[in-house]
Amino acid sequence: MAGRGLGGRARRVLVVGAGVVGLSTAWFLQEHGARVVVIDRGDVGSGASWGNAGWLSPALALPLNEPGVLRYGARALLDPSAPLSVPLSPDPGLWAFLARFAAHCRWGAWERAVRANLPLNSACLDAFDLLAEGGVVTTGVRAPVTAVFRSPGAAVALLRELDRVARSGLSVDRSVLTGDQAREAVPQVSGRVAAAVRLEGQRHVDPGALVRALAASVRERGGEVRGGAEAVGVRPDGGGVVADLAGSRGSSGGERLTADAAVVATGAWFDRLVRAHGVRVGVRAGRGYSFTVPTDVPVPGPVYLPEARVACTPYRGAMRVAGTMEFRPPDAAMEERRVAAIVRSARTHLAGVDWEGRTDEWVGPRPVTPDGAPLVGATRTPGVYVAGGHGMWGLTHGPVTGRLLAEQVATGKRPEELRLLDPLR
Ligand SMILES: Cc1cc2nc3c(=O)[nH]c(=O)nc-3n(C[C@H](O)[C@H](O)[C@H](O)COP(=O)(O)OP(=O)(O)OC[C@H]3O[C@@H](n4cnc5c(N)ncnc54)[C@H](O)[C@@H]3O)c2cc1C
Repeated sequence: MAGRGLGGRARRVLVVGAGVVGLSTAWFLQEHGARVVVIDRGDVGSGASWGNAGWLSPALALPLNEPGVLRYGARALLDPSAPLSVPLSPDPGLWAFLARFAAHCRWGAWERAVRANLPLNSACLDAFDLLAEGGVVTTGVRAPVTAVFRSPGAAVALLRELDRVARSGLSVDRSVLTGDQAREAVPQVSGRVAAAVRLEGQRHVDPGALVRALAASVRERGGEVRGGAEAVGVRPDGGGVVADLAGSRGSSGGERLTADAAVVATGAWFDRLVRAHGVRVGVRAGRGYSFTVPTDVPVPGPVYLPEARVACTPYRGAMRVAGTMEFRPPDAAMEERRVAAIVRSARTHLAGVDWEGRTDEWVGPRPVTPDGAPLVGATRTPGVYVAGGHGMWGLTHGPVTGRLLAEQVATGKRPEELRLLDPLR
């Protein structure tokens, strides 16, 4: 769908949400000469963009609706410590979402989602390079991801999935390691690991530092980034748009911000602002947890534990451990037992980790769509655009999303790469 665009002139664009997606969009809009104002109800990176695992991993950025998830989900419902958690509460909206998600857990739908994500996977690392060339201190480190398995059979499942991805057009440079080879490459791999798959060409960042650097760069280039400003609605106004901010007690009746166009990039809180603009696919919070632990020796690169559904990353001289998918409201309190469950499941795969010395315990909401593809582009309201629903991979896909959407907002023409991500689908 084509919007009216900014006609190539420097115009004012309001971005709602200062996560990696909103800030990247603002940064690339500045490349087109736009004047940007970014607002956030909390602060920069106060959603999912702070405590995530920090992987920029096109090889693994696969849609969540892989058919095996259904079998796994059915088992997890009966196990309160499983990495997937769905509360047995009477929330009809959640159950309707999960029913739509389940309907997309077929190979055909998964392959469609892989194709929709392919343009983002192909160009995501280049977008980080553009940020770095433009002066954003991205702290990106190049290192392979080592996926480790206690059972060699489980490694075969990952290899099959990578084969399917290769058939869709994204080939991944990978090698199979024995347990001993994995231990030699990554000292944290425990004696119980029997096999590993090493994926080359991946990177990782400190995600909190990245979003702060993005915000600093947007400000340095003349943009405004404002915390403590919650939009309660975005609507057309004359030839432009207006955002109504919450008043002092969180109700409407507060300040109004006007702009020529608006981009809603509010992560797991997406539906509240976008439904009024015809975006009906639905985004739910798949909450994940993370914490930091000291290790005996430095971790050389990301370690993936598919059997435990846990991701580990070198982080400020220690190791960040991330996992769990919990379908609860984005602002619900942290559940301490989820952290304990991550420790229990990860410790058999890893050695030389001080699990009791953990700090930085955090929970954040992944914005999950039922069909495994993000929602990026124009809405049915002229001047209102959206970017969200990146699920497990919004850090990897944030900058390239921002680059493509900024082009659409500035020129009024949708880049071909965004066709399958149409938010009005
Ligand atoms: C444990 C965990 C590990 C992960 N690991 C990785 C990884 O290794 N690699 C990867 O690529 N991805 C990873 N992800 C996913 C990634 O973190 C998310 O997909 C990404 O951060 C989403 O970015 P976003 O900008 O869309 O949303 P967010 O970062 O959530 O930002 C949305 C912002 O909008 C603000 N907001 C909401 N409503 C309003 C409103 N009405 N008005 C104003 N502001 C509002 C919020 O305060 C928030 O700051 C992980 C996620 C988790 C939870």
